[in-house]
Amino acid sequence: MTSHLQLGDLTIDLVRKNIKHLYLRVLPPAGIVRISAPRRMDIETIRLFAISRLGWIEKQQEKIRLQARQNPGEYSDGESHFVWGGRYLLKVIETGGPPSVELRPGELLLHVRPGSGKEKRQAALDAWYRRQLEAAIPSLIARWEAVMGVKVSSFYVRRMKTRWGSCNPRRRSLRFNTELAKKPPRCLEYLVVHEMAHLIEPSHNARFKALMDRFLPDWKQVRKELNRTPLGHEAWEE
Ligand SMILES: [Zn+2]
Repeated sequence: MTSHLQLGDLTIDLVRKNIKHLYLRVLPPAGIVRISAPRRMDIETIRLFAISRLGWIEKQQEKIRLQARQNPGEYSDGESHFVWGGRYLLKVIETGGPPSVELRPGELLLHVRPGSGKEKRQAALDAWYRRQLEAAIPSLIARWEAVMGVKVSSFYVRRMKTRWGSCNPRRRSLRFNTELAKKPPRCLEYLVVHEMAHLIEPSHNARFKALMDRFLPDWKQVRKELNRTPLGHEAWEE
């Protein structure tokens, strides 16, 4: 049998059971608080127990909320999404017209048609991330072409599962992962220099590392940042 216990703003589900002790749980995803209590225990004892655990309850609820925000799987309101290394709260706005994305301080506004599901929202956001990179990469390539003395003929931005980027030295063509738009800008610059260094040395040998040391002395530091969770994935390749 379930009843309720009110403590200020907090409503607690109270379940009476054939048990000897009190049990308190905070349940995901909504952070509902539930107390299981012996059938005959008086309500004042239960209330005092709940009051003594208020701090713990708040901490658990905060943890559950944080977990929900760090798991951007649904593309719904209140999720955290990263843009150039900054964290933004997603706000989904249903409007007519083509989908669009707007960046405000602390907020990422995603305009989609009413009834757009997770796939449509994700596609709209991915397309926007890709455009961010397509706008940022040409000037980086131009700057590093002058420094490194190589020439890039084309580049692409794609969703890739296991790589941050790749280089086809024969075609002088570079590829970059869409996810890079979520990382701090220096990570993108590192990837650009890395893939362009492959135009000089295709493999990751000592010569390649010497090139990286020369052009971007802190490249190892940036690479660590690139692969750091929760922003990214462990051990992706360049
Ligand atoms: Zn590489």
